[in-house]
Amino acid sequence: MDSLNAADAFFTAEELASKAQKTSRIGIATVYRFLKRRERSGKVHSYLCGRRRLYSVKEDSHCHFTCSKCGRVEHLKLSKIDFIKDAANGKVCHFQLDIVGICNRCLKQLNNDRSYKL
Ligand SMILES: [Zn+2]
Ligand SMILES: [Zn+2]
Ligand SMILES: [Zn+2]
Repeated sequence: MDSLNAADAFFTAEELASKAQKTSRIGIATVYRFLKRRERSGKVHSYLCGRRRLYSVKEDSHCHFTCSKCGRVEHLKLSKIDFIKDAANGKVCHFQLDIVGICNRCLKQLNNDRSYKL
């Protein structure tokens, strides 16, 4: 599965399968097994994105900012989170963070509602 090495962003097992299927007859179950093995040896990292599982070849971070008001999920790119590594009882590999708050759109709406009432 050479296409794995070319993947530089997040990908799903299905995406990897359809790439691999261009050159060989390979089933999705094989792809899952392959990814699981790679994950165990630390060559692939996995993240939960909603109900989907994403994979990456690089140690990356996957961060969601979820609005508690409208439920919208935004992906954040965080770079300076290495300090978290000091808090862990062991060696940290990659990050998956879920941050909850109120998105700018909802904040604006809240502010508008307030000025309307005043
Ligand atoms: Zn990892
Ligand atoms: Zn995600
Ligand atoms: Zn919102």
